[in-house]
Amino acid sequence: MAVQWVLVLHGLATLVVVVSFLCGQWPIFRRTPIASIHHFLTVGAYDYFLRCVGVLFGVRGTNAILELERFCCDRPNPILQIIYLAIVGGTYFIVAKSCFSYIPGYYLSGIHRHMSLLAVGIGLLLFVLTSFSDPGTVKDDNLSQYLAAYPYDNIIYSERECPTCKIPKSKHCSICDRCVARFDHHCGWMNNCIGERNTRYFMAFLLWHFLLCIYGAVAIGLVLAGQLKESRVIYILSVYYGIENSFRSLAPQVLQWFVGSYDTQILLMVFLAIVALLLAGFFGYHASLCFTNTTTNETFKWQEYISWQRKLNEARASSAALRASINGMSSEVSPRESKWRAFFRRSPLEEAEPVIKENKYDKGLIKNIYEIIVPLSSRSLFSQKKSKVR
Ligand SMILES: [Zn+2]
Ligand SMILES: [Zn+2]
Repeated sequence: MAVQWVLVLHGLATLVVVVSFLCGQWPIFRRTPIASIHHFLTVGAYDYFLRCVGVLFGVRGTNAILELERFCCDRPNPILQIIYLAIVGGTYFIVAKSCFSYIPGYYLSGIHRHMSLLAVGIGLLLFVLTSFSDPGTVKDDNLSQYLAAYPYDNIIYSERECPTCKIPKSKHCSICDRCVARFDHHCGWMNNCIGERNTRYFMAFLLWHFLLCIYGAVAIGLVLAGQLKESRVIYILSVYYGIENSFRSLAPQVLQWFVGSYDTQILLMVFLAIVALLLAGFFGYHASLCFTNTTTNETFKWQEYISWQRKLNEARASSAALRASINGMSSEVSPRESKWRAFFRRSPLEEAEPVIKENKYDKGLIKNIYEIIVPLSSRSLFSQKKSKVR
């Protein structure tokens, strides 16, 4: 098989595996092979592995694996942080080794050797900031300020004591074992919760790494374009090999030359482009939440609330319809409805009131974004606020 097809298949396989692993649970992939691969990668393969260990080493082996799993998934640990550093360090090392010898080139000046290091350095700084900053831990000394800043909406939040911390509850992170204000999610990559005080660093981290991947992919593209220009490949192909000087006849030859001479650089470009795509998705999702001042944790709460309210409204509508039809049967003089009309009449369930999501914390786009950039707890007003609760 030609080398370029191996590369194309490799790129496609990487894309399918990465997308299935990270996004396979999304509703749009339901009942697709992507969802099946996601299931296999996240649960299925592990189940088979556990069964194999059970057969080979008995209960002791299975228990050891489960204990390891508890350490990796239920307790704070730096495993994913180390993997992140290995990916960034490894990718930068391969880029430097395979591309820096062509910089400065026809399209890129020598400054990009330093710029790339600076860009990766800023990415690492954002990683450290997100990982090691306080996400907004609720403690006795800031409890009343937080309660004043984020009053209960009595829809998805009502006053309830955290059974572990014994304080009025915001959201308890079971992995870090603490209550966190405006809790978004526990991020394994950061080994930290994402909450009121560090959502800004997390968003900056996602955006910066997206730009970093785009920068890397474009820079490698320019290195390759520079090599094409400097090697005078098109001139040689058209003059010495007599290939017609048109895009259609030159493109396959040029592609073959690229794949034969610069396979590492092309693989890097594909990898960076895929990661950039995924980061854009993550950033877009979290940005849309920030615009409405909602957290990932709250989206689940709202889904539960809305489906519960919808069921309640449907039950009300159908009982009202039943009552109306009983009344109709008892009054003999009621005019008969035409068949035509009855056909188009909406079912009582459709007449149920739509559920409106009243997000009390949504203060409008500008204020919501400002609240992410300058968290309420870092403002001077915050320390002066005292709630009546305590
Ligand atoms: Zn708690
Ligand atoms: Zn946590």
